Amino acid sequence: MKLKKLFMLLFILNTVSFISVAVVINKYQKATIKLDDAYNMQYKSLILADELRQSSDDLTRMARTYVITGNAMFEEQYKTVLAIRNGELPRPKRYNGIFWDFLTLEDNNTPLLNGEKMPLRELMIRAKFPESELNLLFTSQNESDDLTNLEHKAMNAIKGIFQDKDGNYTIKANPDFALARDIMHSDAYHLAKIRIMEPLDRFYKAFENRTKQKVIEAKQSVTELEVSVNVIVMFSIVLFLMSFFIILFRIVYPIDLLRVVMLKLAQKDMSVEIEKNKFEDEMGDMMGAVEIFKDNTEKLISSEHQLTLAMEDAKNANKAKSIFLARMSHELRTPLNAILGFTNILKKSMNATTQEKENLNIIKKSGEHLLNIINEILELSKIEAGKIEINPKNFNFFELIKEIEDIFALRCEAKNLKFKINLSSNLPDFINADEQRLRQILINLLGNSLKFTNEGEITLTIYSLNNKLFFEVKDTGIGIDESNQEKIFKPFEQVKLDNYTQQGTGLGLAITKELITLMGGNIYLRSKLLKGSEFFFSINYKKANNQEISLKNQAQEIIGVKEFLEEKTILVVDDIRENRNLIVQILSFFGFKTLEASGGLEALELFDNFDNSKKQKIDLIFMDILMENLDGLQTMQIIRKKEKNSDIPIIALSANVFDEDKKQALNSGANDFLPKPVEEKDILLIVAKYLNIELEYEKKENVEKNDISSELKNLPKEFFQKLQEQVLLMDNIAILTLIKDFKLSNELQNHIENLLNGFKYQELLDLCEV
Ligand code: ADP
Repeated sequence: MKLKKLFMLLFILNTVSFISVAVVINKYQKATIKLDDAYNMQYKSLILADELRQSSDDLTRMARTYVITGNAMFEEQYKTVLAIRNGELPRPKRYNGIFWDFLTLEDNNTPLLNGEKMPLRELMIRAKFPESELNLLFTSQNESDDLTNLEHKAMNAIKGIFQDKDGNYTIKANPDFALARDIMHSDAYHLAKIRIMEPLDRFYKAFENRTKQKVIEAKQSVTELEVSVNVIVMFSIVLFLMSFFIILFRIVYPIDLLRVVMLKLAQKDMSVEIEKNKFEDEMGDMMGAVEIFKDNTEKLISSEHQLTLAMEDAKNANKAKSIFLARMSHELRTPLNAILGFTNILKKSMNATTQEKENLNIIKKSGEHLLNIINEILELSKIEAGKIEINPKNFNFFELIKEIEDIFALRCEAKNLKFKINLSSNLPDFINADEQRLRQILINLLGNSLKFTNEGEITLTIYSLNNKLFFEVKDTGIGIDESNQEKIFKPFEQVKLDNYTQQGTGLGLAITKELITLMGGNIYLRSKLLKGSEFFFSINYKKANNQEISLKNQAQEIIGVKEFLEEKTILVVDDIRENRNLIVQILSFFGFKTLEASGGLEALELFDNFDNSKKQKIDLIFMDILMENLDGLQTMQIIRKKEKNSDIPIIALSANVFDEDKKQALNSGANDFLPKPVEEKDILLIVAKYLNIELEYEKKENVEKNDISSELKNLPKEFFQKLQEQVLLMDNIAILTLIKDFKLSNELQNHIENLLNGFKYQELLDLCEV
């Protein structure tokens, strides 16, 4: 049965049983009262009958005593008793005994006759004696009057008063005691007495029977009701206990079961069993619901588990990818290192012809382009692995803007585009931020604008607000339709346009966005197809002052080392011969003495020999990290342990360029870190820094920019046709010959060479349309 119905049933049953108990107890109470009444009546009737008999006896006794003694007191008492019985005098309150009793019990303070006046007859009527019994009493009382007459006659005879023939006491003579005694003991007196006693005796029997009957009846109904009370109270108790147990087993117990189950489920203990079939009521429904909840939770936990596994897999895959990329980059950068380095050395060789130098230039630019692509891929893998770090430095912000302007003004001009820079007046001169990353972001955004704009202008706006720098890069180019605006910030996403030759990897904006986020900013895009694009971004910065700015000479070409007094010996440790040779040749070219070691062990041996000879010492070490047997890190640690060598500058070299590789090298004792492929410039700068040597820089002349676009306009059509053909064939050598044949100005030649070296064929095609 459903709990709701069961509860209603129990409620009704309990209510009915309680009402029954109340009714039966009430009845029982009434019956006991009836029984009491019956006893009371029996008692009262007895008292009244007794009073009648007693008063009659008292009257006889007093009259007889008066007749014998002639004492008037007895006559007085006789009259008093009679008057009380007839209701003429008030009855004493305790009038329930013989006359003498109430007389002797009199206390002096309260008068003896202190009750109300009430004839005995009236009392009998009030006591509700049945008529038959009252008739007997009245008969008796009437007879008692006869007796009283005889007594009067006797008492008058003592006073000498006698009855005349009419029965009136008119005759006076001498008192006649003998007559009085005779009357009081005469047969007539006895017969009169018997006549009183006889109805009285019947009255006694009648009322005794009646009251006895009443008491028996009342007793019987009390006994019967007693049984009913016991039965109904027992039934109620049983019903109450039963209700209690039903509630316990049908509600309390299952709720507790449910509580235990739910607590276990809350603790993700799915082993818990739910006995839902045990209950076919609302509790069963609840258990069923909990079972569904459990099933769902189980599914959730299992999918959560699968998700964790999948995430773990993805993490592992990502890690594997990062490791692969790092390895690949190492593998690719190591030979590139050799290609670029030796190209540089060959370029410097006096024997090379101009044609060979040009070819070397192409090799160098191609290598640099390849390096750029590798760098971009590596950068993205660093971002994905969360290993990219921002290195804020103090720098001259306006110098950076100028540098950007120098790069883009010329390139825009070549495409006949206007390039504008709007700077707000509140821009700080010197700031603390990651200069290299900011340059990278700006070059990427402006580079994209340049790539995707064929006419109009490109504008860079910069302003500062609340310690943030805001940049806007706006172009009037081909624009990006809305569906692609989010996509392009994802890696490898490019907008495919049929009539547009695409270059690049599709990684630029993904890297830019991550860098901006790392620099505490955001990037937004607003663009309309065929109208142009606007990229907005911000970065955090701190103000800096110019004393904290390190002077930069990197932009200028190093042509030599100023003469140094002491000979400097540099040890180069690298297990790959080509790489080692490259550094050795660069250092030798600039007049340093070099030592070579093809591994850690050889380096330590060499180091010890030199150390022991005492005449010569090693001034600086270039140490490759990845080497067989004893790697660079271990070798540096051993060198650092030898106390005397604690101050020799060691420069770690590695193609593994994650920040953690750098940190690891520095922790193992390196003073600095150079990422491979190392450039001649970097080697010289670092040697100069640690050996206190001054470098000689090329003196740059300020070349006036010729108006390339006007020159282009004046070139014959034939030139553009040939250029277009060769660009489409990607025949670089033919293009270089072409620009020589047409005797272009140096500026235009350089510009085209630069585009070629950067593989910017689209821009070359754009030139043809000018
Ligand atoms: P990519 O190396 O291909 O330029 P990016 O991530 O820098 O990679 O750009 C992704 C794509 O976003 C581009 O290929 C181009 O389709 C679109 N894009 C970026 N900047 C612009 C712009 N200023 N105007 C039009 N399209 C743009």
